[in-house]
Amino acid sequence: MARRRTGPTDVVKDLVFHRDDGRCVRCGSRDRLTVHHRVNRGMGGAREPWVNEAHNLLLACEPCNGWFEDHPLPSYEAGWKVRRPQPPDKVVVRYADGRGYRLAADGARTLVEGAR
Ligand SMILES: [Zn+2]
Repeated sequence: MARRRTGPTDVVKDLVFHRDDGRCVRCGSRDRLTVHHRVNRGMGGAREPWVNEAHNLLLACEPCNGWFEDHPLPSYEAGWKVRRPQPPDKVVVRYADGRGYRLAADGARTLVEGAR
């Protein structure tokens, strides 16, 4: 039986790091960075392949990563967390620059005019 991968590949982590300019999406920190899942992996790990793709991932520092879990409502509002069954590429993410962006599976990031 093949071992199931539970996290993103190094290639995807690289895409996310460069897309997010090596900074935490919430506070802009360059320290203690980790890859945060917007839609969580849920029970049984990553069954859906998109869970570990770039549009479901954000670069976040460890304190903000913990903050997302402690403050789900503002995190959903900012797009840092996404509720199933919403697809993460349809939910705008607020970055530390105060602007909203839409993320694609290929690592692209598109500014959404007028988004908070
Ligand atoms: Zn942070």
